[in-house]
Amino acid sequence: MGTEIGQCAAIPRFNDEQLACAAMIGELVRFADGEPLFLEHQHDVPMYVIRSGEVIIRESSTGEPRDVVTHEAGEFTGDVDLLTARPIVVSGYAKGPVQAYRIPQSEVRRLLNEIPALSDMLLEAFQTRRAVLETSGFLGVRLIGRARSRETNELREFFYRNHVPHTFFDVDEPEGREQLALLGATEADIPVTACSRRVNKRPTLAQVAECLGIQREIPDTLYDLVIVGAGPAGLAAAVYAGSEGLKTLVIDRVGPGGQAGSSSKIENFMGFPSGISGAELANRGYLQALKFDVQFTAPVHVKQVDYNAEGEHRLHLCTGQVARARCVLAASGVAFRQLAIDACRRLQGAGVFYAATSVEARSCRKSTAIVVGGGNSAGQAAVYLAETAERVLVVIRGDDLRKSMSEYLCKRIEHHPRITLCKNTEVDDIEGRDVVEAVWLKSNLTGERQRIDCAALFIFVGAKPHTDWLPDAVALDEKGFVLTGAGLESDERWPLDREPCELETTCPGILAAGDVRAGTTKRCGFAVGDGSLAIACVHRYLNDLS
Ligand SMILES: Cc1cc2nc3c(=O)[nH]c(=O)nc-3n(C[C@H](O)[C@H](O)[C@H](O)COP(=O)(O)OP(=O)(O)OC[C@H]3O[C@@H](n4cnc5c(N)ncnc54)[C@H](O)[C@@H]3O)c2cc1C
Repeated sequence: MGTEIGQCAAIPRFNDEQLACAAMIGELVRFADGEPLFLEHQHDVPMYVIRSGEVIIRESSTGEPRDVVTHEAGEFTGDVDLLTARPIVVSGYAKGPVQAYRIPQSEVRRLLNEIPALSDMLLEAFQTRRAVLETSGFLGVRLIGRARSRETNELREFFYRNHVPHTFFDVDEPEGREQLALLGATEADIPVTACSRRVNKRPTLAQVAECLGIQREIPDTLYDLVIVGAGPAGLAAAVYAGSEGLKTLVIDRVGPGGQAGSSSKIENFMGFPSGISGAELANRGYLQALKFDVQFTAPVHVKQVDYNAEGEHRLHLCTGQVARARCVLAASGVAFRQLAIDACRRLQGAGVFYAATSVEARSCRKSTAIVVGGGNSAGQAAVYLAETAERVLVVIRGDDLRKSMSEYLCKRIEHHPRITLCKNTEVDDIEGRDVVEAVWLKSNLTGERQRIDCAALFIFVGAKPHTDWLPDAVALDEKGFVLTGAGLESDERWPLDREPCELETTCPGILAAGDVRAGTTKRCGFAVGDGSLAIACVHRYLNDLS
């Protein structure tokens, strides 16, 4: 039985029947005392089901090796990286002579898909192990930077969205300076990351992703479906596509989650009565899609799509690579609108934010936060931030919050002792050279200006669809959202005799789902439904091709 972290969902045991199954699909291998089964940072590590002997799991993220757990006969090695195919974060050593069944990653996936009881046990164990490891002192990637720097926060968002275990050290704290010195870096080098024994000074997202094995070469494969965007619509489509055997690739410019990934708590998603964070919802969809053998790549954005004489869509990526697809799903969502104030762009990530998760909330702990906007996302952000900020001002241009916000949030805002609603008010200016220091508010009734000392400004004032990568032949509505479905057959850009499918654009074989699609309700539930429906259209299109 596992020792240090005790008997829990992280360390279940194969029963006799399951062991027989492991013996059937695995190869029996032997290790001598002290011999490694796998080493930290190694790629394509298989799962080992222990037939006899013990295996010590050891991590050395602090520099000092530390035993995390000892697996005994009947137990197995591995965590979520058996599905993500990223390099492993711990090592495994034989304690005494060990016999184990070696099961390659592709066969683990087959087990998950074909044996439901094993699937439940393995998936729960993989996720719980990672969570237990992260709370046990495991540092993961070390990130040293400033809490309110844009570059640092971009990296933190990337780690958060891609579920990369990491520890942030603030260089303004003694521990941060100590880490910096340990890594042989200076303040001029921040942000600094230490991953896979490599120290990266001021790294780009692509460098970090490459170091972590997240961004991979796209194989020269003709995919049935390439999904652009891993928000709720893209993830739902990925789960359905994978489960129905379509060869599928998902590309995202940051990582799984989309806008939902920036929601601290989604309370209106069916099946989660006490709410679920967007990151958690996205992670579940991501793992589910991985289980069905869907491939992911991030941080990569699609620059344009064209169509060749062989009937293939060719997606040109920012990395210079090309992904080939029979069908493309645009699930690229929307970008947040900014305020027409110069400092807004300059201070983005350094006190100006478009999301309110624990990462951003840290910037305004025990100080004032200003939330601009009257929609549900603004309401949720205000309520969440009020848990840690000294006070939160909610700024709206009009005089009635109920015009755009759900009643439950309006009530919470009105009754919260640390939230103040500022009606008929706009942001006039932002002060601060490197970080936000104060915000000027202006009454749109009297013109009166007021300076508020504050550490963070959260902006939730609408969004613009991400369609710049789509070909001109894809028809958009007057606001730039993608037009789809019945009605388009009369559009001169629609080239075929048949009616387009519900989610098909004016370019046959390019579909759209979720927030980017015209006429949709901009909500997670809707995006998930849309993404799932898209797969029915993909099947119809592929059937027509064959
Ligand atoms: C703070 C906040 C709170 C919210 N709270 C709720 C809530 O409580 N309940 C609710 O129902 N809804 C909520 N929403 C709305 C909900 O999150 C969205 O409706 C939903 O995320 C839309 O999903 P989507 O997949 O269509 O697009 P998005 O979530 O926008 O995802 C699109 C993805 O596409 C990627 N992308 C864009 N362009 C490219 C490109 N060229 N190449 C590669 N990738 C690209 C982006 O990186 C992004 O990950 C909230 C939104 C926000 C911002």
